[in-house]
Amino acid sequence: MAFSMKDKKVIITGGGKGIGAGITETFLEEGAKVVFTGRNEKDGLAFANQMKEKGYEVDFVKADAASEKDTENLFQEANKVLGGIDIVVLNAGYYPESKTRDMTLDQWDEVLNINLRGVFLNTREAMKYLKAGGRIVITSSITGNRVGNSELPHYGAAKAGVNGFMRSVALELAADEITINAVEPGNIMTPGMETNLGPEYIKNQESIIPMASLGDPRDIAYAILFFASDEAKYITGQSIIVDGGQILPESPLEM
Ligand code: NAP
Repeated sequence: MAFSMKDKKVIITGGGKGIGAGITETFLEEGAKVVFTGRNEKDGLAFANQMKEKGYEVDFVKADAASEKDTENLFQEANKVLGGIDIVVLNAGYYPESKTRDMTLDQWDEVLNINLRGVFLNTREAMKYLKAGGRIVITSSITGNRVGNSELPHYGAAKAGVNGFMRSVALELAADEITINAVEPGNIMTPGMETNLGPEYIKNQESIIPMASLGDPRDIAYAILFFASDEAKYITGQSIIVDGGQILPESPLEM
């Protein structure tokens, strides 16, 4: 069967909520063994237990994606628990609103650290463990790569940086037969969307998305699954947009 994850050993950062939870459940359903992370231990353990009750092999490791020490510890733990690592999904991210003129350096650093430094740290660690056939898949964004958002300049910079980083790493890993690719979600209904951007933003987005609703975490999970599959072995350094057609209209008159 195509795109099977049977017995694949998978790390998913930020895998206990929102898009990450959708990715974790999808990979488990397809037969993977998963270690996922987050910073909130209570929430992470609760989601892991929910998945274990369904009979899946899954564990939570508390790890801040932006911490070098946590990242090293995560890969050591996951390697032990899973007995190797085949696939690494870098999904942890954060998108609080702030305009550039109002932004403190701490706000800038926090967003760059989680969304960009975190991808670097986890990719560097993944390189120590992945073997031929290994996969890295990143949850990037249309923000920064295809569109701008005046309330998310730090986030746009980080996600555009992620895609640039990903293309360079693809070259470094190509001869090892390890691929790295990214999925660029549009607007997806998640707890982060509700708390960071809120109901008014969500309503506005629904009115401009050609498919007329926000996406579901599973819409992103299946695109990630594709890049992570054995069948995607000849694709590297690429990204796929999953946005319900959001970036397509040439002008508002199209809508
Ligand atoms: P979410 O609902 O807020 O979930 C974020 C997840 O990441 C949580 O599990 C959170 O766990 C974890 N996390 C956050 N910071 C972390 C850190 N420093 N270290 C480890 N884990 C961390 O967000 P989401 O909407 O699902 O977004 C997931 C990814 O998709 C992000 O990379 C985001 O940028 C990207 N994205 C989302 C959308 C969208 O419309 N939702 C669009 C484009 C891209 P804890 O709370 O336990 O830390």
